[in-house]
Amino acid sequence: MSIAENIARFRAEIDEAARESGRTGGDITLVGASKMNDAAACQQAIAAGIDALGENRVQEMTKKLAQHAYDGAPLHFIGHLQRNKVKQVVGKAALIQSVGSEALLREIEKVAGQLDLVQDVLLEVNIGGEAAKSGFAPSELTAAAALAAQLPHIRCRGLMTIPPVAHFPHENVPYFEKVRSLFVDISEKMYDNKWEYISMGMSGDFADAIRAGSNMVRLGTAIFGARDYTK
Ligand SMILES: *Cc1c(COP(=O)(O)O)cnc(C)c1O
Repeated sequence: MSIAENIARFRAEIDEAARESGRTGGDITLVGASKMNDAAACQQAIAAGIDALGENRVQEMTKKLAQHAYDGAPLHFIGHLQRNKVKQVVGKAALIQSVGSEALLREIEKVAGQLDLVQDVLLEVNIGGEAAKSGFAPSELTAAAALAAQLPHIRCRGLMTIPPVAHFPHENVPYFEKVRSLFVDISEKMYDNKWEYISMGMSGDFADAIRAGSNMVRLGTAIFGARDYTK
């Protein structure tokens, strides 16, 4: 299957899941998680109409930016971001999805201020409470949203989550539902309902995530095929 065929096939599945929750595929942003795929693959996805591409690693993103991998589509940063690499991402990524600490929010604010721009971000929620994963605990989220709202060079657009690895089908539905309710509460209370994005769902669970209210899915394997870790 080509990248274009995969995108068409998964757009149809996204549309089906969206209709089950009273929406259509047009309401769901499809982000291609393009890590370990080269600039040519990124360009094929863009030609086939992907809504955005998401990268995990700053070094790989910087290399592929120089190769014009993302020309024609917004670039999102979706991986763990170290504070000392913020300078390489702010202003390059249209949306930094993976902001999981107040220290990182403050560093993004500082760099965006120096560049005189407003950086769009999502707050990442560590919904499974996993020690090895970054992100805000649900109990920290209201304070983080309040801080983001005060920072003039940051515009928070919603939430992102990566639930624990599932061992059986539909295992993560309760996590998706929790994130959805956090999104509704905080957006209503603090942002006058202006948060737009709830980024959850990957190749193995995007239909469940959409049915639970996601409007942004990040698909890697489904679109680009299995990643080759031997390279
Ligand atoms: C790799 C990655 C994805 C996509 O994973 P697949 O299971 O290949 O669809 C989504 N989100 C993040 C943050 C990722 O790192």
